[in-house]
Amino acid sequence: MNPIFADQPTTIFEHMSGLARAHGAVNLGQGFPDFGWPEDVVAKAAEALTGGSNQYPPMRGLPELREAVADHYRAHQGLELGADQVIVTSGATEAIAAAIIALVSPGDEVVLFQPVYDSYLPMVRLAGGVPKLVRLTPPDWRISREMLAEAITDRTRLVLFNNPHNPTGRAFDAGEIALLAEACVRHDAVAVTDEVWEHVLFDGRAHRPLAAEPGMAERTVKIGSAGKIFSLTGWKVGWAVAPLGLAAAVANAHQYLTFTTAPNLQAAVAYGLRKEQAYFEAMRADFTEARDFLVRGLADAGYVVLPSEGTYFVAVDLAASGIGLDDATFCERAVKEAGVAAIPVSAFYAEDPVRTVIRLCFAKKRETLEAGLAALAKARVLLAGDAA
Ligand code: GLN
Repeated sequence: MNPIFADQPTTIFEHMSGLARAHGAVNLGQGFPDFGWPEDVVAKAAEALTGGSNQYPPMRGLPELREAVADHYRAHQGLELGADQVIVTSGATEAIAAAIIALVSPGDEVVLFQPVYDSYLPMVRLAGGVPKLVRLTPPDWRISREMLAEAITDRTRLVLFNNPHNPTGRAFDAGEIALLAEACVRHDAVAVTDEVWEHVLFDGRAHRPLAAEPGMAERTVKIGSAGKIFSLTGWKVGWAVAPLGLAAAVANAHQYLTFTTAPNLQAAVAYGLRKEQAYFEAMRADFTEARDFLVRGLADAGYVVLPSEGTYFVAVDLAASGIGLDDATFCERAVKEAGVAAIPVSAFYAEDPVRTVIRLCFAKKRETLEAGLAALAKARVLLAGDAA
């Protein structure tokens, strides 16, 4: 077996969901909503399944979806894009893989930010890239000019940037985004921006696409996900958007991965992306309410919570909450002994992990959050006295 994959454990999401199933625990680990989905979008997919084509769609995606993605980003983020810049993929994870293997050659340096989403590093290594890790730390997970000056140099080929950020729940601010863009331009690096949480933002924040910064449109591959926009994580419909030259490179790699994505789902997503602003506002309001409910309950149970500015997630500082266990031990014991699954944030570090923070998903109906909170209160009582 290729050692890059032989040495990998099962992803932390699958591992914790498996334990949650085995122990009948409330699953606040893997990030997926449990409250349903927009019925009209699903109805469109059903219609397209019985009334439309079930053969291969065009390799870069259905024209109607590629148009819809370009129009959506023009309307919501002010980006000037053509449908010919859009490549539809089987989820954002595939788009990221295609972008990495298309753009990284052996020996190229790739800058990534820790905590780093689990699929990035194996793909960088597969491509023969040399990872350069920027280490972000709690409680503020802030990117500084010094960190970027050290990591991004003339040897940098690619910067892989996730914003809003999973697992921390941070939405990087205008100052951090500007610093990153300046560094990419100065060193002629390409940016791959995983912006799948672009609509899941709280407290009046607007999404800041890196591609909108000066000099970035021509060097950015922007990645998005219908799963996150429509609470349909199982559909695995995503896309990469890039200037034509970069788009051609990504398409050349993508044609040997999944090649195409279910046409019926693409048609439904094309319809969904044209929804009124009110849909997106209601979604944010619902997620905000769920976040606030979980955060209040956690505080009542004695947990110290870090701010969640976007994504489905909130981070809890175990050490500050008076819990001496490391995050992985806490999560293993909480799922087995208290009946609640969380994700240890140390799993997102390739080196020198922060071991005191766990991630909880609040994209859940009220009953799930209530049951999760009851189990977390139990976990705190049970585990607070124990040391690692
Ligand atoms: N993006 C999801 C999360 O962060 C996990 C997806 C997966 O299991 N690969 O929880």
